[in-house]
Amino acid sequence: MDEIRIENLEVFAYHGMFPEEQKNGQSFFVNAVLFMDTRQTGKTDGAKNFVDYGEACHKITEVIQGCQVLTLEALTEEIATFLLRYYPPLASVSIEVRKPKAPIGLPFESVSVKIFRGWHQVYLSVGSNLGEREKTIGAAIEELEENPDVRNVKASHFLETEPYGGVAKESFINAAIALETMLSPLELLDLLHEIERNHGRNREKEQRWGSRTLDLDILFYDKLVYEDERLILPHVDMENRAFVLEPLREIAPNYRHPLLGRTITQLSEDLKKREA
Ligand code: ATP
Ligand code: CA
Ligand code: CA
Repeated sequence: MDEIRIENLEVFAYHGMFPEEQKNGQSFFVNAVLFMDTRQTGKTDGAKNFVDYGEACHKITEVIQGCQVLTLEALTEEIATFLLRYYPPLASVSIEVRKPKAPIGLPFESVSVKIFRGWHQVYLSVGSNLGEREKTIGAAIEELEENPDVRNVKASHFLETEPYGGVAKESFINAAIALETMLSPLELLDLLHEIERNHGRNREKEQRWGSRTLDLDILFYDKLVYEDERLILPHVDMENRAFVLEPLREIAPNYRHPLLGRTITQLSEDLKKREA
């Protein structure tokens, strides 16, 4: 990926754990790498997809002087989040902030924190079989669209399907959603659970595969293969569920499952053959 680099931008500010840092202030030095495809900008000489590094320097200065934080970790996070939201052409950023005058009381050259943040391609599966099903799913999609850490939300058509797993009685409305997010996988899971709760879902009172007002599952997060007690990626069992594959096929027919090595279209055809 192409890079725009800003090196050692100096900003005077008052962040730090110690009262003297907050009172007297000190210089912070920023190294920012903006990852994007600059080809369009280059070929049109700035007419398309332009990220102005001069403006970016001023914006970074404003972010540093405008926020109130104690740690370099929070400061780098503020800068990365701002840049990713403000400049749509950016795919990711690396932000390093140095504090050479940190009050450590020992001889040293500098301390710094460096982070890497970016947008990730995600596919979700959504279902509802209680209450006003279409309305709930529509509202959940809107909540995702309005979240500043989410962009480029696209939903498939809604599909009516019979319950899976023999627990629920009422039929479901299902859909698939594509989006980009700068949240980590677990942060995204938390957001989805929060949206489920906003729509009346109460996990304590229900059975797996039972009726629910809203179910949001993460199918893919980039090509990540991940497993812990809260989250498994890609979503297990998706290759056996027509109500997941059919809507997903509409928005991501050629997306390849990182473990099964098959595209969504192929998985959906495989399943049809197995069920025939
Ligand atoms: P299934 O996951 O088989 O579709 P379900 O959606 O009915 O079943 P839930 O009761 O909604 O299951 O979720 C149970 C737990 O599954 C969640 O609390 C979550 O921690 C975990 N989980 C693991 N992997 C994922 C994933 N990829 N997306 C969403 N939740 C997941
Ligand atoms: Ca589910
Ligand atoms: Ca779920």
